[in-house]
Amino acid sequence: MKKLIVGNWKMNPSTGEEARRLAQEVKKIATKSRDKVVICPPTIFLREISGMIKKSKVALGAQDVFWEEKGSFTGSISPIMLKNNGVSFVIIGHSERRTLGESDEVVKKKLRGALKGGLIPILCVGEKERDTHGYYLATVKRQLEGAFFGISGNVAAKVIIAYEPVWAVGNKSFSSANPSEALEMAIFIRKTLADFYGSKRGSSFAVLYGGSVTKETASDYLVHDAVDGLLVGRESLKASSFSEIVNFRKK
Ligand code: PEP
Repeated sequence: MKKLIVGNWKMNPSTGEEARRLAQEVKKIATKSRDKVVICPPTIFLREISGMIKKSKVALGAQDVFWEEKGSFTGSISPIMLKNNGVSFVIIGHSERRTLGESDEVVKKKLRGALKGGLIPILCVGEKERDTHGYYLATVKRQLEGAFFGISGNVAAKVIIAYEPVWAVGNKSFSSANPSEALEMAIFIRKTLADFYGSKRGSSFAVLYGGSVTKETASDYLVHDAVDGLLVGRESLKASSFSEIVNFRKK
């Protein structure tokens, strides 16, 4: 089964030259991969990188989107603007945006806007901390309920879910959920979505893991069929590490 490896560049790099160099390297890295590779550079680099990766195996994603099509929304970027600039995927509800105040309500609007605009959303969910009573499961369930509320099954099926425990994202010591925790959560996410949309549709949602993935740990998550891919942050900025992650099958 093909996996999906998504690189979230966050607010990096600082110059267009570095961004072009990294995009060029990823393009090369992806040539031999059997899997699908997506890079999500900062908005300002999207247009140029889109031209560079045309006809390559790399697809383009944005890190955020606004929900309206156009109008008086200073500083915002609409789904159609992204689409018209070669973007196919968009990260929604990343924990680094939720920390800045993005609510479940805003995430819901962005998810709907992205779907309406023909983008493939990568919806991030995850708990702030793990407890021994299973409250973290309720957090993820609440985020899913909030985001998918009122979206029909046919439309919802396009959404990719990224399980990103907040405590693991950007963690300085690269401490991450272990592969069995990621697997358990992938199953829980599909079960929750099956409760909304029926078991057939629920079981077919793609679920990624993200949070301090490294070249050493990537393949441990991907051995499980239930984990459809990875959302990689800092390690997607180092071409040599990202290359090993993308080409995890050769390990
Ligand atoms: C991310 O930005 O989605 C992420 C998972 O970051 P990192 O891999 O750096 O923890």
